[in-house]
Amino acid sequence: MQDIYSRQIEYLRIAVTDRCNLRCTYCMPAEGLPLKSHAEILSLEEIFQIVKAVVPLGIDKIRLTGGEPLVRLGLVDLVKQIRTIPEIKDISLTTNGILLSEFAESLKNAGLNRVNISLDTLDKAKFRQITRLGDIAKVHQGIEAALKAGLEPVKLNVVVIKGVNDGEILDFIELTRNKPLHVRFIELMPIGESDAKALASYLPAEEIKQLVQKKYNLTAVTRVMGSGPAKYYKIDGFKGTVGFIGAISAHFCHNCNRLRLTADGKLRPCLQKSLEYDLLTPLRQGVSQEELRKIVAKAIRHKPKEHDMEVNGWGKQKRGMSQIGG
Ligand code: SAM
Ligand code: SF4
Repeated sequence: MQDIYSRQIEYLRIAVTDRCNLRCTYCMPAEGLPLKSHAEILSLEEIFQIVKAVVPLGIDKIRLTGGEPLVRLGLVDLVKQIRTIPEIKDISLTTNGILLSEFAESLKNAGLNRVNISLDTLDKAKFRQITRLGDIAKVHQGIEAALKAGLEPVKLNVVVIKGVNDGEILDFIELTRNKPLHVRFIELMPIGESDAKALASYLPAEEIKQLVQKKYNLTAVTRVMGSGPAKYYKIDGFKGTVGFIGAISAHFCHNCNRLRLTADGKLRPCLQKSLEYDLLTPLRQGVSQEELRKIVAKAIRHKPKEHDMEVNGWGKQKRGMSQIGG
C-alpha cells in the first residue's frame, strides 16, 4: 500500500520484547529502562495475528528486533509461524549476537532468511565498556554460527561514535576480506540515551566513507539482499561488502518503506515521531482482521513525511530505541 507521499510500504519491523541482556551506553541507562509488564506486551500469538492482518496491505518483509529479540522465549516458533504465510518473502532478525550461537541453526530451520548483528568494536574491553555487560567472544561465536547456518546475508551493524570506535573503522573493513560479511557503518542518532550527547559524538557517513577510501578502492554495488537505506560498496578481491547509513545526513525518508510495531502493540509509522496507533487494545477487544487492517491502513496513510532529528533530536519523547524496535 502507498502512503500519501507515494511511498510503497512493504516492511514491518517488530519489537518482540523491550528487554535486553545488554545496556549499550548510547541506547539504555545503566539500570535499564522501565519495563512493561507481561500483560502489557503483545503475546507471540498476537504478533502473528497482526502480521496476518497486514499482509493483504502489501507487507512482505518482516524484521524481528527489540530490545534483544533472542531473549524472548518462543522466538523460533514465531519465525516458523510467519514462514507459513506464503506472501512473506523475507524474514530477518536484528540482534546483539550474544545468544545467536545457540539459536542460529534452529532459526534458519524455522525459516529465518538473514540476520543483522550489532557490533560496535572489536576490542574486548571496549565492548564491555560500550555494552556494560557483554562478552565479545559470544558475539564472534554468534557471527560464525550465523554463517555456518547459512543465514544470508550476515550484516554487521557498527554505530560509529567519535572518540570511541572511529579508530577501528579499517579493522572492521578487514573482516570483509575473507568472509561474506557485510559491514555497515551507521551514524549515531540523537535518540534515547544519546539524545543530548549524540550530535557531539556523531560522525557523518560521508566522512567515514572518505576515511575508508584513503586505504581502499570502493566500487558501488547495486544491491545486497534487504538493502534499505545503506549505500553498499565492494573492495576488489574481498568476499563481503561495506555499507554506509547516513541516518541523519542522507535524509532517506523519501524512500522509507517501513512501519514499526512496538513490544506493547503500538504501530509507529516513523522512528522519530511519537505518532502511534494502538493495535493491542482493539486486538484484545476481539476486532476482526479487517478492522485491524483498517487501523494499519490509516497509519500508513498518515506516515510522516520525514524526521527532523538533525534539528530537534529526539525531543521530549518517552520511548527509546529499544522500546520502538530500532
Ligand atoms: N538488541 C538488538 C541489537 O542491538 O541489535 C536489536 C535492537 S537495537 C535497538 C537495534 C539497533 O539500534 C542496534 O544496531 C543499535 O546499535 C542501534 N541503536 C540503538 N541506539 C542507537 C542510536 N542512538 N543511534 C544509532 N543506532 C542506535
Ligand atoms: Fe540492547 Fe540492542 Fe539497545 Fe544494546 S542496542 S542496549 S543490545 S537493545
